[in-house]
Amino acid sequence: MTDINPFVITQRQIDEASAMLGLDPATHAFLREPMREFTFTIPLRMDDGSVKIFRGYRVQYSDARGPCKGGIRWHPDETLDTVKALAAWMTWKTSVVDIPLGGSKGGVACNPKELSPTEQERLARGYVRAVWRMIGEELDIPAPDVYTNPQIMAWMMDEYSTIRGHMVPGVITGKPLQLGGSAGRDDATARGGIYAVREAAKVINLDLEGATIAIQGYGSVGRSIHKLADELLSLRVVAVSDSHGGIYNPNGLDYKTIYQHKRATGSVVDAPNTEALSNDEILATDVTVLFPAALENVITDENAGSIKAKIVAEMANGPTTPEADKILYDRGIYVLPDLMCNAGGVTVSYFEQVQNAYDYYWTLDTIHQRLDRKMSEAFHAVHRVAELKGVRNRQAAYLVAIERVAEAAKLRGWV
Ligand code: NAD
Repeated sequence: MTDINPFVITQRQIDEASAMLGLDPATHAFLREPMREFTFTIPLRMDDGSVKIFRGYRVQYSDARGPCKGGIRWHPDETLDTVKALAAWMTWKTSVVDIPLGGSKGGVACNPKELSPTEQERLARGYVRAVWRMIGEELDIPAPDVYTNPQIMAWMMDEYSTIRGHMVPGVITGKPLQLGGSAGRDDATARGGIYAVREAAKVINLDLEGATIAIQGYGSVGRSIHKLADELLSLRVVAVSDSHGGIYNPNGLDYKTIYQHKRATGSVVDAPNTEALSNDEILATDVTVLFPAALENVITDENAGSIKAKIVAEMANGPTTPEADKILYDRGIYVLPDLMCNAGGVTVSYFEQVQNAYDYYWTLDTIHQRLDRKMSEAFHAVHRVAELKGVRNRQAAYLVAIERVAEAAKLRGWV
């Protein structure tokens, strides 16, 4: 399954949901293809004076529910089909959290680690010169994704503003705060996941008092989960890992100590007062909640039987294979699917766009309250459908998302 083209997998998920929803053939056919796909070349003047040609992509999957929204990845393995799959994914994600946006994605096939900062700036500007006619606050709003960051968003916003002749902060989200970025964007994905866990515990009558958690992946999301799990729900983090390995302490891992150790050494491994744990062992740790926050396809049919957590909260995109999803469901483990569980980031990106449009900025408290409301509503919409139809949460999330997009397309008279 993992070797299969990601867009083909996405289409299978659409086929399954469309059949369950009883969608007519035209609506189904409409949902399984992107509205627009654009590939282009970006000639880049390198620092040594030579010119290299890079391949760029922008796919606008659907704007049935509002302007398209989706990040820009810079990755050597970027292909049109990965961008198409991720653009479809964004369409369902914005739909499941019910924000008035569609889905898109962009990318450049490149290795950013081999590009100097000045080459990165020229690449960012070249990307915008290629796509500027098809992006904009009312059309399609990019954001950061793998290997792109707030500085790159700032250069892109500047290039677009230069072309338009005035500053247009709302063309892109994930900007630095000084240029119209939103308060609360940095930990929004993790925070949204914690809110979803809180709601899940309510519906399955799980007492979170004294509950323990394990986190696979200690990057921007995993680290924030560590901090917020304690701050918001008083959960005890007993195991965390990164690409070098894992650590464990049944009495709890102190956030500041672990984060400082990671910053100083580049890894969580060998942090004070911890035992070593492998990345496979971390998944099977006896905890209340497991947060996969690293890579895709880490929970498979081979290890799903050994997971002991009561809730699996998917912060990473695609951490559970379809076979493993069925095993977890049959074992009574409550899975919070990525589609909904990690949508906190895009939700606060949408808040950023709204604040840019009004040129009026909300307090951090307001952001947190509004994010909580969106995540809680999304959680309960998915849970209700899962209960009503007797399906897995992941299937329910697809049903909720796809039905909303189909309805919008119908109301607009497209299908
Ligand atoms: P990141 O690059 O900051 O962190 C990734 C972490 O995973 C690093 O600590 C890395 O060491 C660790 N890792 C890599 N390989 C590992 C392995 N084999 N075992 C254990 N850990 C490993 O990325 P991030 O922004 O924290 O994103 C993590 C996941 O969450 C990704 O799947 C991403 O697509 C998803 N996600 C992120 C956001 C966001 O707002 N950042 C939003 C939605 C989804």
